[in-house]
Amino acid sequence: MLGTGLLKGLAITFVHFVDTYVQDLKKFPRRYRKEPVEGQSQALRGFFTVQYPEEQLRMFPRFHGHLVQARDAETGDYKCTACKSCERACPHGVIKVEGERNPDRESKKKMLVTHFTWDAGRCLFCGLCVEACNFDALRWSQGFDLAGCEREALVYDFERMLEKSDA
Ligand code: SF4
Ligand code: SF4
Repeated sequence: MLGTGLLKGLAITFVHFVDTYVQDLKKFPRRYRKEPVEGQSQALRGFFTVQYPEEQLRMFPRFHGHLVQARDAETGDYKCTACKSCERACPHGVIKVEGERNPDRESKKKMLVTHFTWDAGRCLFCGLCVEACNFDALRWSQGFDLAGCEREALVYDFERMLEKSDA
């Protein structure tokens, strides 16, 4: 029947609208959420205020935030091998990687990263670079505060990507 889909959509919206008030009453009188909450959970239903930026909700695990460089859990050293797979996979050319042979012949790490930049301002957040990394070095963080006043501030170098990973 003509308009059934529209009515169904309105009904769903109405149920969510009522549920918001029901959840709010259940949590009364709490108005502010102090503790971090895993995103998309039941706890996020109802009215509450997050005092951003002092308080922040955690984003859901698959959120594409900053690209970060991971460290080896045992050695604490960065995992990147400067193989350039991420650079080649990027359709927008926003990752630049340079490396050099490690002079320490005894070290397991054969290549050292001499230059790594990621331009978040031009990134599509498609994740092809993360998929292309065979060393689990490149990951998405759950950080969403990417905004900056200047374009240059959106270009992340290797140290900054490691710092974001440690944060
Ligand atoms: S997410 Fe996509 S556009 Fe952004 S750096 Fe990775 S491959 Fe390039
Ligand atoms: S981040 Fe991964 S794919 Fe990119 S250069 Fe490092 S090891 Fe290679």
